[in-house]
Amino acid sequence: MKAYVLKSPGNMKYEDVKVMEPESNQVQVKVRACGICGTDLHAYAGKHDAIKYPVILGHELSGVVNKVGEKVKNFNTGDRVVVDPNITCGYCDNCKKGKINFCENMKSVGINYSGGFSEFVTVPEKVVYKIPDNITFKQAAIAEPISCIVHAFENTDVKNGGSAVILGTGFIGLTFLQILKGMGYYPIYIMGRNLFRNRLAKKFGADKILDNIDSLMKTDIIKRANLVVETTGSTDILSKTVDIVSDSGKIFAFAVYPPGEEMKIEANKIYKKEITIIGDFLNPNTMEKAIHMIGSGLIDADDMEDMELKPDKANEIFEYKSKNYVKPIISFE
Ligand SMILES: [Zn+2]
Ligand SMILES: [Zn+2]
Repeated sequence: MKAYVLKSPGNMKYEDVKVMEPESNQVQVKVRACGICGTDLHAYAGKHDAIKYPVILGHELSGVVNKVGEKVKNFNTGDRVVVDPNITCGYCDNCKKGKINFCENMKSVGINYSGGFSEFVTVPEKVVYKIPDNITFKQAAIAEPISCIVHAFENTDVKNGGSAVILGTGFIGLTFLQILKGMGYYPIYIMGRNLFRNRLAKKFGADKILDNIDSLMKTDIIKRANLVVETTGSTDILSKTVDIVSDSGKIFAFAVYPPGEEMKIEANKIYKKEITIIGDFLNPNTMEKAIHMIGSGLIDADDMEDMELKPDKANEIFEYKSKNYVKPIISFE
């Protein structure tokens, strides 16, 4: 099969590699669409700790079941599916306690398993999910990042309605915007400086768009936002959220922050304002919900997938200024 092999940082080659045949409990999926995520860009740049080169990246993928192992129970050739890239062991302490996102032996598609920047991926049946007919493969490809957002809501008792601030207009920020709109939040202020992305924020109904944190800090939402969603990955911006959030408000810290970097906040504010800061890691048991959030039309996948690449040209995105795009997709359709 053809695959993009990242041989070393910055050196990706489109070449022939051997297809992995499914073991007894595995499903082989013919990839139809695969999203490109910040994690992939990090790996390409050599800034991802867990990556060992060579690697085939791509963990946001959908496709058609091509072959099944003899013990596979729930899938047949031709089924339309998405793959949850996080493969847990099922027997470590955390798995036994149901905290599967903290599995001590976690293996991930596109990191330790060959990923979706290729014609086929072969994974255990337990991480494969069927998709309804009304969702295209391209739409389904973003189920994984959305499933991480679903986990954020399951991790806390965020209420319907209220006012919100979203920091960042990337894929995650724009998806939170659509979900919070659906939950009746008003007003929703969003901060982002990329004009293309801000245009989408407007389309998705942001009530005010600010292009930097200083201008946001001068608006009337300060100290009034019941929910603040930090998606930029800036420790500095995260430290400001305690001044944006309302009394008894909640803060999602929804980004990969630079390891080792510390944050300075006035601790007394946490006490006096009854602030909750919520971390969220991966997507335990939330893939199906994410699929249906796309199918219901709550999440506009088509508009966010603003750069479509053909398989043999997919490496171009890594050389471009890909930051202009919300969600580039490699489409095999
Ligand atoms: Zn991702
Ligand atoms: Zn485990």
